[in-house]
Amino acid sequence: MLKKLGRNDVCWCGSGKKYKLCHEGFDGKLQKLKRKGYRIPNRNMIKTKKQIEGIRESAKINIAILDEVAKHIQAGMSTEEINRIVHETTITLGGIPAPLDYEGFPKSVCVSINEEVCHGIPDEERILADGDIVNVDVSTIYNGYFSDSSRMFCIGEVSQEKKKLVDITRESIQIGLDEVKPWQPIGNMGHAIHAYAMKNGYTVVRDIGGHGVGLEFHEDPCVSYVTKPDTGVILAPGMIFTIEPMINMGTDEVFVDDENGWTVYTDDGKPSAQWEVMVLVTEEGYEILAY
Ligand SMILES: [Zn+2]
Repeated sequence: MLKKLGRNDVCWCGSGKKYKLCHEGFDGKLQKLKRKGYRIPNRNMIKTKKQIEGIRESAKINIAILDEVAKHIQAGMSTEEINRIVHETTITLGGIPAPLDYEGFPKSVCVSINEEVCHGIPDEERILADGDIVNVDVSTIYNGYFSDSSRMFCIGEVSQEKKKLVDITRESIQIGLDEVKPWQPIGNMGHAIHAYAMKNGYTVVRDIGGHGVGLEFHEDPCVSYVTKPDTGVILAPGMIFTIEPMINMGTDEVFVDDENGWTVYTDDGKPSAQWEVMVLVTEEGYEILAY
């Protein structure tokens, strides 16, 4: 049981300021929402100013790594070459690739092609071909702070059908971001993304979602993109999470590779696309940390 903070006590957030001059109003807003029946975030989901600064630096490296991949990715290249670029760039910039050895993941990046939904494992034998759509998902640890974002790349001449899937998925991120507002429930974001995907004839993967990030690779909250409006945890300034819908051309059903235990595929073999943005909730709305 936490001792109730007095108004003149030092705030729980680590700012060193008096509670009444710091998070008292913040907590008051959340308590009011809680009384209305909303789920409110735990304090460990609210990053301090210092933590946000550290996470922002990590995110800058994540962006630089993806920029480096963007410069080199092309047909004829193996996915292992992408792994090398990510690994070497991360180390050069002073970071650590978060996926490497994470729960046994063997490489420094996830590279997922066409019907691979996510968690594709780089391989010397897997060669990018003209017409492929490829997700490169980069996660970095820098000074102990975690960042995570991913992009889609179209290799050579991609069919109109696949190009549209990639574009709509990217557009859905902005549709979701438009619903990232402080003191509003997170479900509005997932609902907006789902509605946009469905309007375009696509489905959204239900079994895997996004997550809080920053002090750990994967933190609360779990983030779904198939939610109902006005549901889910309340967004509060200082929360950091990923928006990373996996949007499928066909069924939303997926399965995990039973040999490598990681790679997720669409059940019907139709393509899947994913973009991932790492977002901070602010007093005004949101700030994109990594994309
Ligand atoms: Zn405070």
